[in-house]
Parts: sequence; C-alpha cells; structure tokens
Amino acid sequence: MPRFDVLTLFGEYFEPLRTQGVCRRAFDRGAMALQHWNPRDFSIDTHHTVDDRPYGGGPGMVMLVEPLERALRAAQSSRETAGMDTAPVLLFSPAGAKLTQEQVKRWACSAGAVLVCGRYEGIDQRFIDRHVDEEISLGDYVLSGGEIAAMAFLDAVARLQPGVLGSADSAQQDSFSDGLLDCPHYTRPPTHTGLHVPAVLLSGDHARIARWRRDRSLQLTQERRPDLIAIMRRENRLSARDEQALASLD
Ligand code: SAM
Repeated sequence: MPRFDVLTLFGEYFEPLRTQGVCRRAFDRGAMALQHWNPRDFSIDTHHTVDDRPYGGGPGMVMLVEPLERALRAAQSSRETAGMDTAPVLLFSPAGAKLTQEQVKRWACSAGAVLVCGRYEGIDQRFIDRHVDEEISLGDYVLSGGEIAAMAFLDAVARLQPGVLGSADSAQQDSFSDGLLDCPHYTRPPTHTGLHVPAVLLSGDHARIARWRRDRSLQLTQERRPDLIAIMRRENRLSARDEQALASLD
C-alpha cells in the first residue's frame, strides 16, 4: 500500500480527497495512506516564519530551507517508525517533467513518496539540490502552489489501487493506459434530439463492440495525438489489424 507524506503549508486542501469520491474509497479501504506535514509547525522562531525575501532582490518570497528540512525529517522518521524505507522525495514544479499515466502507474505500485508543495516564488534551491529526487509538473502553466498538482497526482494514483474503482476494467480502458486515447462513450436515451447512439453499441455483439471501440480509440488518437501513435509504432504495440484500421482513416 503506498503512503504519501505531503509537505504543505495548506493541509486543508487535501481534506476533500479524504471525504469525497474515488480517493475517499482508496483511503477508507486502506489501499493508500496520506499524511501531511506543515513546515510552519517546524519553524522555530516566534512568528513561525516559513518564507523570506529572495537574495538578489525581486518580487515575492521564497520558502525557507530549514522548516522544510525539519518537516521532511519528521515525515521520513514517521515512515521509519512504521517500518518503511526512506521515501523518494518529489517536488511539484513547473520545471519538472510533465506527469504521465506511465509515471502514475509506477507510483501506484510503489511504497509511496514524500510530496513537496511549493508556494510563493518557489522554494530555496538548496532544499531541491539536497533532497529532491524528482520534479513533476502538471503542465505548462503556473499554479499558485503545489497542492493542486499534488491532489491531481494523488487522485490519479488512488484510482489505480486494487478494488478502488467500481469495475476492475475501468482503469485499463482509460486514456493512456494502453497508449491510446479512450473511445467515445454513450448512455441512455438511444436518441437525443435527433442524435443517435452508434447502432453497433446496441447490437449486443461484444466482439463487434470491442472492435468498434478499438477503432474509435485509434481514430481519435490519430486525429488528436499522432505523437502517441508514433510511440505505439516504435514500441511495436499496434497489431496488423490496428494498422489496417489506421490506414482506412487516410
Ligand atoms: N516562480 C515559479 C516559476 O515561475 O516557475 C512559480 C512558483 S508557483 C507561484 C508556486 C508553486 O506552485 C511552485 O513552487 C510549485 O510547487 C507549484 N506549481 C506551480 N505551477 C506548477 C505546475 N505547472 N506544476 C506543478 N507545480 C506547480
């Protein structure tokens, strides 16, 4: 079971994960554990300072290295007390590698990690140099803090824990799981304001339905993310039938 220890100034962000939806199920079932550590609790001055002005001038504030380091030590020793190994340390940062489903799968099967959420202009580089193993970005835009990135990461990891999703197949059929985007989905009614559900989905013929879904996945991926098709080709993950379906789109 992975355990994630989050270093954050805003632990309240994570409460909805414990109380709502799929993530809640993961925590309730003991499929995943979460603890947060506030660097402010590890600041030793009377004002519980966690940030200071940047050397060299400029706008904003920078998170101090010492409270973060103490919070990290507390998280790691709590894991040790629980009989766990020292965890890798991940920092959410626009400078990180973009989060992918491959990485999510890797962390879902791991013993977890310490997740560091930056705030303000970011955190003192010396903390990163000494302690951070991996930097993860949610995308090419700037958030106000790492909490929302950490929540996205935790949500994606939670839904891959065994028994957490309603159907065991759900996660396997999701976008990126087999390298392609997911196919379109439909539900009742069969006709809505002149728009019809594709007849094959009402046919009850499971083999035809599976082929239709695979073809629509290939089509959508070819249209929107040809880079993913190129990766699948490089890794020999497309069958002769997949190639035929792609050729018929040209
Ligand atoms: N000065 C930083 C820059 O321009 O790269 C932005 C700092 S941002 C206001 C504060 C914190 O939010 C960062 O330290 C990081 O932890 C988090 N953050 C912002 N954008 C992010 C992204 N795209 N992915 C992951 N974390 C992000």
